[in-house]
Amino acid sequence: MTREGTRLRRKPRILIVDDEEAVHKLISAYLNRQGYQVESCLDSQKIIEKIDEIEPDLILMDLMMPNLDGISATRRIRNLERHSYLPIIVVTARKEIKEMVAALEAGADDYITKPFEFEELTARIKNMLRLKRLQDRLVQKTAELDEANQQIGRLNHVLVETNKQLQKKIYDFHNLFEISFRVMGQLELHQLINQALLNILGLFTTRSAMLMMVSQEDNDVFEVIEAKGFSQNQLQKFIIYRHDKLIHYLELLKQPFQIRDVSREFQEIIPVLKNMGIEVVSPLFRNEEIVGLICLGPNIRNQEYSEDNLETLAILTNMLSVALHNAQMYEHIKALSYTDGMTGLHNYRFFRLRIKEEIARARRDGSPVSLLILDVDYFKNYNDTLGHPAGDDVLRKLSSILRKSVRDNDIVARYGGEEFAIILPGTDIDGALSLAERIRSKVERTAFYKEEIQPNGKITVSIGSATFPRDAVTVEDLVIAADRALYQAKYSGRNRVVQAQELVEKE
Ligand code: GH3
Ligand code: MG
Ligand code: MG
Repeated sequence: MTREGTRLRRKPRILIVDDEEAVHKLISAYLNRQGYQVESCLDSQKIIEKIDEIEPDLILMDLMMPNLDGISATRRIRNLERHSYLPIIVVTARKEIKEMVAALEAGADDYITKPFEFEELTARIKNMLRLKRLQDRLVQKTAELDEANQQIGRLNHVLVETNKQLQKKIYDFHNLFEISFRVMGQLELHQLINQALLNILGLFTTRSAMLMMVSQEDNDVFEVIEAKGFSQNQLQKFIIYRHDKLIHYLELLKQPFQIRDVSREFQEIIPVLKNMGIEVVSPLFRNEEIVGLICLGPNIRNQEYSEDNLETLAILTNMLSVALHNAQMYEHIKALSYTDGMTGLHNYRFFRLRIKEEIARARRDGSPVSLLILDVDYFKNYNDTLGHPAGDDVLRKLSSILRKSVRDNDIVARYGGEEFAIILPGTDIDGALSLAERIRSKVERTAFYKEEIQPNGKITVSIGSATFPRDAVTVEDLVIAADRALYQAKYSGRNRVVQAQELVEKE
């Protein structure tokens, strides 16, 4: 049971402080009968020790005492630090008015004058004890309130912290979402990798990051594909072997791995990674097999990566595996396709295939094949002045002019950046020249956006023309002949058509 509990259940304890023993006996006898426990203190000098020993609920204090009078004793008691209130009733003679006032000022709560009726004494004691109980309850309630307040304070602190963490998570997820959107939509492999690494640097405030992929030539070797924040020196010759224990471990772990956690098992590779400043390795999977690694260097603040960081990195790495796969597939398909994405014309691959076929057929049939190679004049100027997108628009418009200018079995291809090739099966020199001239003049007459900024005031093309078998008897030589004719068209002023034969005549 607590001290407070005992105090509540026991009889109220009254301490009489008086130097006269007779007074003690008299009052004690009466109060005992009233149900109080009464203790005596004859020597007021010992009042403090007595209070400690007895723990009274009320003090009945005589004012006039030798050694230490009632006023001084009251003051001493009030100077004590007590957690529960101790009421003091002073007992005075009628003539001691001044002393009584002084006693009240020193901290006494009530007084009673001698001679008194016992009933009056009991009434005052009861009253004081009731006040004390109220006072004690108030103190206790205040303490409870204080405690509750503190607890609310602590809870509030936890709430604020949790809220902060939650906000951070929301922010991270938002970032992750944005990044995934950008990364997943990127089909161009190099840009994808570049963007992914930059995003990783930003998201984790990392000093350095790299992507390693399994080598095309050697499935046992992971090599650096792209790196940010590493010195060229460090990167030279840095590879990781598939048969390294770390790779086997990552294959089982299937998530990012903080290098510091490593046991002695990976003794060989750890110094190498540490030396590179790599702190985290995150595996990229395809069909249960590791195909790449994202390696992170230290955090800008040199803090360790948190569990949250690693979780986010895991999501990002998985996303990147898929995005990389998509981009690789895209590159692959692009390589297989015969169409130029921007203009919709046939591409260079298709051109090579068809020109070989057409020359072979021409050889068999004894018929001619002509080839036009066409290049935009001063196109660099147009691009540099108006921007690449404006340049692209010109290329698309030109493509459309070319497509409309030729017959069905002629083959129009985008040969290179701003160069086009047209294969004209069954067409001889004159036919090729007249078509070339038609195209040249049509381009000259067509209006293009802001073409006046060009050195010659408009968008024009130069065209070289060559014909099998007169100018060349092999595919390669035919292309060279057309190319040289184009060069001559440029050289002699641009916006013109030159036939390969003209060069021969000049030489
Ligand atoms: P020239 O009359 O001698 O042909 O001058 P030019 O500036 O056209 O020649 P150059 O070969 O130096 O520049 C070709 C420019 O064509 C370079 C590049 O800015 C632009 N180019 C190449 N491919 C594309 C493309 O796909 N789109 C756009 N917009 N521009 C391209
Ligand atoms: Mg060119
Ligand atoms: Mg050009």
